[in-house]
Amino acid sequence: MIVLEEENKLAERDRAVEEIAARLGVRAERGKRFAELTSLRVGGAIDWVIAPDTEEQAAAIVYELDKAGIGWRPLGSGSNVLADDGDHHYVVLNLSDMKGEVRIERDRVSVSAGYSLPRLCIDVARSGLSGIEGLGGIPGTIGGALWMNAGAYGHEIGTVTESVRVAREGKVLDIPGESIQWNYRHTSFREGELLLGATLRLTPDDPERIKARMDDAKSRRLATQPHGARSAGCFFKNPPASTIGTGKMIDDMGMKGQRRGSAVVSPVHANFIVTEGENARAEDALALAEEIRERVRRDHGIELEYEVELWRANEPQINADEQTQMNADQSGKEE
Ligand SMILES: Cc1cc2nc3c(=O)[nH]c(=O)nc-3n(C[C@H](O)[C@H](O)[C@H](O)COP(=O)(O)OP(=O)(O)OC[C@H]3O[C@@H](n4cnc5c(N)ncnc54)[C@H](O)[C@@H]3O)c2cc1C
Repeated sequence: MIVLEEENKLAERDRAVEEIAARLGVRAERGKRFAELTSLRVGGAIDWVIAPDTEEQAAAIVYELDKAGIGWRPLGSGSNVLADDGDHHYVVLNLSDMKGEVRIERDRVSVSAGYSLPRLCIDVARSGLSGIEGLGGIPGTIGGALWMNAGAYGHEIGTVTESVRVAREGKVLDIPGESIQWNYRHTSFREGELLLGATLRLTPDDPERIKARMDDAKSRRLATQPHGARSAGCFFKNPPASTIGTGKMIDDMGMKGQRRGSAVVSPVHANFIVTEGENARAEDALALAEEIRERVRRDHGIELEYEVELWRANEPQINADEQTQMNADQSGKEE
């Protein structure tokens, strides 16, 4: 009886998703798996993937989904997400097609959330704008970089973000960068917030000098990180009070090359978990990650915090009432 009720609810939700996508002229697909959409190449089935092309479309979609009480999550390139192997009964808003056009006016650069971060680093370097050249080797979209406050080699995206465009009540709203807290691989954006684009404020400099710094960051990255492997970058954050980095700590415990089924601690960088094989499983990566945390807890008394985002199939999704409350809270902060 309960199963039948559940199935009826899902069928009703499916009709609503189809109707919303058709009305707004946006592609909605079924049958995708996280294994196709994330850099770790693991993770289970997704009920619906919706891929908007423009910021306006994306804002309208989440407004309609919220009104209909349908759960959704935004995904960029999936380079910082570990989704479990279960069936994910929600809508994934795939933003990697929402590239838009980069607009450069003097030292200001406006870009949509789906644009590639490495591509933007090259674009602005060529235009003689400095401030993000350290980020050139970070895979992913601008939206993912803003959400995580991506950083490397002395640069962090938050420090150069003048404003962020977010979805509110079906519209695109510009909020100032200083109303956001930009912390270490974490921001004050809250679950259910959709980032549509940003305006960065950069510093004019000689294109050759910027390129040299970008090349330097790239070669340092190539020397210390696995390339061509399926990873999500650093799995854990560096502990705040520790003088020793997480990678070194795991390396010193002799865990490089440690394996759990299809997941391995990278022999190149111990804070990278890489997956192998056609049928790699999120379960293996999670078990290996927990083994590392257990060892670090035991040997160092430190509780490692995940840097990758763990997406569980059975997590409750944010509903429309919570969304409305969240937007009200955030508007309060902007004043
Ligand atoms: C080889 C490798 C090296 C890496 N090196 C670094 C590094 O040096 N520094 C670093 O900071 N990171 C690094 N990363 C991690 C990752 O590339 C960054 O976190 C990146 O910014 C994630 O972007 P993405 O588009 O792939 O986001 P996703 O992985 O798709 O999403 C990450 C989070 O952001 C949210 N999100 C994405 N887009 C939006 C949006 N438009 N609106 C709201 N929420 C959104 C998602 O819901 C999710 O919670 C590395 C990853 C790899 C694979």
